[in-house]
Amino acid sequence: MLPSIIAIDGPAASGKSTIGAAVAANLGYLYFDTGVMYRVVTAVALARALPIANEAAVTALAERVQIDFCAPTVADGRQFTILADGADMTWDIRTRAVDQNVSPVSAYPGVRRAMTAHQRRIGLQGNVVMVGRDIGTVVLPEADVKIYLDASEEERARRRHCERVARGEAVEFATVLREIQKRDQIDSSRDVAPLKRADDAIYLDSTGMAITDVIARVMDLVAAKELAH
Ligand code: C5P
Repeated sequence: MLPSIIAIDGPAASGKSTIGAAVAANLGYLYFDTGVMYRVVTAVALARALPIANEAAVTALAERVQIDFCAPTVADGRQFTILADGADMTWDIRTRAVDQNVSPVSAYPGVRRAMTAHQRRIGLQGNVVMVGRDIGTVVLPEADVKIYLDASEEERARRRHCERVARGEAVEFATVLREIQKRDQIDSSRDVAPLKRADDAIYLDSTGMAITDVIARVMDLVAAKELAH
């Protein structure tokens, strides 16, 4: 039997989304990017002009907001459409303001509780590739395959810088690097569910590797787990 629950964690721009989506497509599994949920809470808070420092208000929002994923509703390069209370937020969650505010939002214990409950319910249905920061440690510690995907800071910043420039943003490489470092620092040092490698996760450093090689390596790890059973 193929492993049913695959968890991929790692720092910002380590390639989790690209690799996770490709592996899920290869296996015919659901691909679930948990970062999207924290981004939606942040984007909605910003849109409603809620102060991000107001933990009670941001937590109440996280508990109430209805987040839905569906097949693309617009042919503009999106992988899927993301709705918050029925409104299309697919691109709103990728703005610089969201990048800058999502780590403080996701450090709030009540926000994490609300998001983790949804994620666990979806993950336990199986046949899923779930990516994030705490999937192997907190959300789905029973995952059949756990991968901690990493890459050097410079490479991760380079990838994110290219994406942003391709979207038409005039942003300096040094700025992107600084923002990634800051996000990783907050994500790794928070009290609840910090970014860290699970003891039983396989460490995969993708620095200098082609995407196709990283995907092949993850598929090998999945197949090796199947043989071991
Ligand atoms: O993966 P992505 O960069 O889209 O995640 C955005 C942010 O959401 C992360 O920087 C982190 O603060 C938060 N996050 C989290 N736990 C997860 C996934 C994302 O705290 N499982």
